[in-house]
Amino acid sequence: MDFNLTEEQKQYLDTVRRFVGREITPCIMALENSHVFPFDIIRKAWDLGIINLSIPEAVKGYSLDLISTALIIREISYGDSGIATSAMCNDLANAVIALHGSEAQQQAFLGPFVERPLLASFCLTEPGAGSDNSAMTTIIRKGSGGKYLLNGSKCFITNASFASQFTVFCKVGKPSSPFLACVVVPALAVEPDTAETAAQTCREIPLPCGGRIVTGKPEDKLGQHLSNTASVSFEDVVIEDDQIIGDRRLGFQYLTDVLDYARPMVAAIGVGLARRALDVTLAYTRERRQFGQRICDMPVARETLIEMWKRIEQAEMALMKAAFLVQQGAPDRGVYASLAKNLAAEAAIFCTTQGLHLHGGYGFMSEYEISKLIRDAQIIDIYEGVREVQNMIIGRELV
Ligand SMILES: Cc1cc2nc3c(=O)[nH]c(=O)nc-3n(C[C@H](O)[C@H](O)[C@H](O)COP(=O)(O)OP(=O)(O)OC[C@H]3O[C@@H](n4cnc5c(N)ncnc54)[C@H](O)[C@@H]3O)c2cc1C
Repeated sequence: MDFNLTEEQKQYLDTVRRFVGREITPCIMALENSHVFPFDIIRKAWDLGIINLSIPEAVKGYSLDLISTALIIREISYGDSGIATSAMCNDLANAVIALHGSEAQQQAFLGPFVERPLLASFCLTEPGAGSDNSAMTTIIRKGSGGKYLLNGSKCFITNASFASQFTVFCKVGKPSSPFLACVVVPALAVEPDTAETAAQTCREIPLPCGGRIVTGKPEDKLGQHLSNTASVSFEDVVIEDDQIIGDRRLGFQYLTDVLDYARPMVAAIGVGLARRALDVTLAYTRERRQFGQRICDMPVARETLIEMWKRIEQAEMALMKAAFLVQQGAPDRGVYASLAKNLAAEAAIFCTTQGLHLHGGYGFMSEYEISKLIRDAQIIDIYEGVREVQNMIIGRELV
């Protein structure tokens, strides 16, 4: 077992840390309060080559290993977990194309992301189908012209207001069908200079091949204000055969593959956020004095700081093990992906809650970053499968 990072991984870490230290952390509260989607930061991240990490080399992508990907996402999340979510979502949407798409599909649907900074959406969740995605009703069904038409509504979709491509999971033929398909719908790109308008409004996207996509007004969220979340409806969208990824009956298998890949990435977001909470709390408790001593020197406060550190280290170990096993395609990768996700969510929620407490009343003031971090942390325990769903996966394997 080798805990050393490769030279390439060290270089990546160095690049991302400098980027985050320059573009995000110094102005994070101003960004948070601006209510503007940080497309400029996404563009700069694209220029540096630290997003779209799952795109294969055959399409001129980076084909990055999962441990390196997790390290990069963790560091972006140290700056802001919303920006990390938005960036990670491109890979969430594109990984299934990289894993199961034909060569031609990879060129057609992944190529544009290598050419310029674009965003993608991964569309799984529906109003009536959250944790239980088998209850989804979005379907492709043959229309009178003999072609498949996609109809249905998805909710809570990251990047939806800006996405130039939608990866959509849907039933085949009828909502009660046991078959799930994965289809890719390219749409008009939102360029960085028009991003501000897109962030405020619904988007109606007529599609040249027929039908339209409508995205809802961006959601007003408790946290992760720097990620975009909106609903998406597909209305009679014509789906050509070459827009269906792999076998149109194997979507459930493809979904499992994507979630095995994505859960360590969410864990990386949680670990980065938890580490930031520890660092801002350390900085604060080193400065703040009560009863003639620094808060961080008070035994109970120090124990809390140690406990925060321990939770982060545990989550980090679980993250690295999960990333390694998913990369290897190990049979037990799903269990470890779920474990990493749960431990990282716990670490993020614990560190932000205790961190806020150690800030005292100041932690409750919105000018202190810990008050933002505690809001951001809550979603780590929910998206990509709530805690109970991860436990269900772990429990099923154990028993
Ligand atoms: C900011 C944000 C971004 C998101 N981005 C995306 C995206 O890009 N693409 C996408 O497809 N989705 C996305 N989602 C959706 C997210 O994955 C779902 O919200 C999540 O899977 C939970 O589904 P739900 O909200 O319908 O909750 P429900 O499934 O209704 O669950 C509610 C609660 O019920 C309990 N529960 C549910 N199932 C069980 C069970 N089996 N056992 C015990 N208790 C249970 C849990 O306490 C759970 O928290 C996003 C959500 C948010 C908030």
